[in-house]
Amino acid sequence: MVLLIDSILTAQKNCKDVVSVSEVNDPRRLIGLDSLGIGHSQYCFVNVFINAVKSSAVIFNKYYFVLTGTQIMQDILDNIAATMSARTDRGEVASYIPQLACVDPNQFGITVALPDGRIFSAGCANELFSIQSISKVFTLTLALGKLGDAVWKRVGREPSGDPFNSIVQLEHESGKPRNPFINAGAITIVDTIMMGHQPKETLAEILQFVRFIANDDSIGIDENVARSELSTGDRNASLAHFMASFGHFQNPVDQVLGTYFHHCSISMSCQQLAKAGLFLVSDGTNASTGERVVSEQRARRINSLMLMCGHYDGSGEFAFRVGLPGKSGVGGGILAIAPSKASIAVWSPGLDKIGNSKLGTEALEMLAKQTGWSVFGQ
Ligand code: GLN
Repeated sequence: MVLLIDSILTAQKNCKDVVSVSEVNDPRRLIGLDSLGIGHSQYCFVNVFINAVKSSAVIFNKYYFVLTGTQIMQDILDNIAATMSARTDRGEVASYIPQLACVDPNQFGITVALPDGRIFSAGCANELFSIQSISKVFTLTLALGKLGDAVWKRVGREPSGDPFNSIVQLEHESGKPRNPFINAGAITIVDTIMMGHQPKETLAEILQFVRFIANDDSIGIDENVARSELSTGDRNASLAHFMASFGHFQNPVDQVLGTYFHHCSISMSCQQLAKAGLFLVSDGTNASTGERVVSEQRARRINSLMLMCGHYDGSGEFAFRVGLPGKSGVGGGILAIAPSKASIAVWSPGLDKIGNSKLGTEALEMLAKQTGWSVFGQ
């Protein structure tokens, strides 16, 4: 049975009494498919209907709808953006990087990119923002491509349970960071990528890779943000020098740091970021361009790291609330991956106490709930 609904408005008009959530568990209830507005005059039991559409159904306003309708996804995003614009408690913008402290917190954008190439957006989805730590997903991918599993000799694969810029574990664990997504881990990853090259060359390579996976050559670095972070980057400098004291670094510390600050300062919009995440949706291939980026196994492993470590000491909470691999940045962006389904980018500059986007997380929680997307079940 194939059910297509073009417009949620038509659907709502035509099927006022179709399936309400309170009734979905009652298998005796009959649904008139005719009332879905699809031209069939058949009836079926609710449980048959649910089974037929389970993988592609979405709950919206108490009704089950089939997710193939373009308008349905757009309505979900518009609804999320409207809900977020009404929020007054929006968190605090990152103030330790002066340039980020100037960003207007009253902004919100969201994009859902599907493997078939369709893009749905709401709010300021074309506005550029500083992707900050989301860039760590891309540099990790690059490092794995260059060094393969040798990367894991220098960084671990365990959640840290500590803030993103914490130094405490490094002493106990002889300068080996817990994972590639905390600052110490990402700085180490930059050192592995540099391989004796100059910062400029390394940055060009990182940028080229991000442009390739996003299929967008306009992506660039915001020099003002990079300079701003460099001027207040004492904590990251401490992490880098501390790790170097264990004899782990292969490149001059100041060059590694400069490269790290610059790749954190890549500017992207939600649309560009969601497109860049598509290779993690379809087992390593960007299905919309047909380009293979990494192997199937590697894509799954990057997703697992995003789930376990992508939100620092808030990773458990994010997995609990959203149920998808995700990577946040202090610029207020989050990239989330619904494997086989969609790449999602959301941006709202206000952060929670841990440093993850407050409304971004709420928006993803709403989206996951309404689409049923989760790595923990259908
Ligand atoms: N560039 C930021 C830093 O090093 C990245 C932190 C983040 O986004 N969580 O502090």
